[in-house]
Amino acid sequence: TDEIIRNSDKLLIIGELAAGIAHEIRNPLTTLKGFLQLLVAKETDTKQRLEYYRVMEDALNHIEFVAGEMLVLAKPQVTHVVEHDVMTILREVVNLLSAEALLKSVEINIQTLDEPAVILCDKNQIKQVFINIIKNAIEAMSTGGLLKIMSQQMNDHVEIHIQDNGLGIESDRIPKLFEPFYTTKEKGTGLGLMISQKILRDHNSTISIVSEPGQGTTAIVSIPLQRGTSSTCPA
Ligand code: ADP
Ligand code: MG
Repeated sequence: TDEIIRNSDKLLIIGELAAGIAHEIRNPLTTLKGFLQLLVAKETDTKQRLEYYRVMEDALNHIEFVAGEMLVLAKPQVTHVVEHDVMTILREVVNLLSAEALLKSVEINIQTLDEPAVILCDKNQIKQVFINIIKNAIEAMSTGGLLKIMSQQMNDHVEIHIQDNGLGIESDRIPKLFEPFYTTKEKGTGLGLMISQKILRDHNSTISIVSEPGQGTTAIVSIPLQRGTSSTCPA
């Protein structure tokens, strides 16, 4: 039954994805077609034509981006699984995003663990998950704020809490967050959280979001600990 549930789960995701992709690609295609027809039918001066080309290029870029994201999803599941310390990965991601945080007046406070929390993972994929979550947190604090990253070792898993004091999310929107292409941002893709959830599933891990509108949001990632080893792999 487990297998059946997983399969119907997959079908549901494929259906949602297909609808999302169709929509995401159709809009720029309509744009492209319209401007092509304009260029063919109408006398246009160079300036106007350049403007049309620019809009057409944007449309093409969007299709290219969506196709690229789909390829990420289509890639074989976990590829390069090795032992890593979660804190090391988190610190790397924070370093990566520190310039962006500084620019947006967001202070990042990362609490360290006494012992390494060793997990089995594809490092780049788990990095991508934390990048997606932390970027969302930064984007939710448009006038600056505090981003707290806290970790906790439980019995058999490590829990990472990524907490912002940004605009928050109304409770009825929470179920939508993991749907493909659900975004409230002008330049958002709505793929970050769905891809993160997919990666975490591939790692037998979970993500949940708790939020208070006007107060902030916490993303909670839970990853199984690798037991019986004391050494960690270098980056
Ligand atoms: P995108 O960031 O491209 O919009 P995501 O899948 O990363 O796509 O996020 C989907 C939506 O979830 C966002 O548009 C936003 O509305 C909401 N969201 C995610 N993280 C947060 C957060 N930390 N604070 C407020 N809203 C968030
Ligand atoms: Mg995002």
